[in-house]
Amino acid sequence: MTNIVNLDSARRKHRQSKADGITLCQSGFHKWQTMAGQRFDVKQGKLVTTERCARCNIERTKLT
Ligand SMILES: [Zn+2]
Repeated sequence: MTNIVNLDSARRKHRQSKADGITLCQSGFHKWQTMAGQRFDVKQGKLVTTERCARCNIERTKLT
């Protein structure tokens, strides 16, 4: 019985730490990491930088 309780609390702790990151993302605090390589958008005449969130893996592009 004791083992089951310990496992359960360990799982809950893991789930909690994961949820923290997602909560941050949902609040707009993504952990952006610039992806390698930039390209030039001919149509808009701007440099396109792609960034990806390390937690939820969504991508965004920045025009500079
Ligand atoms: Zn995110």
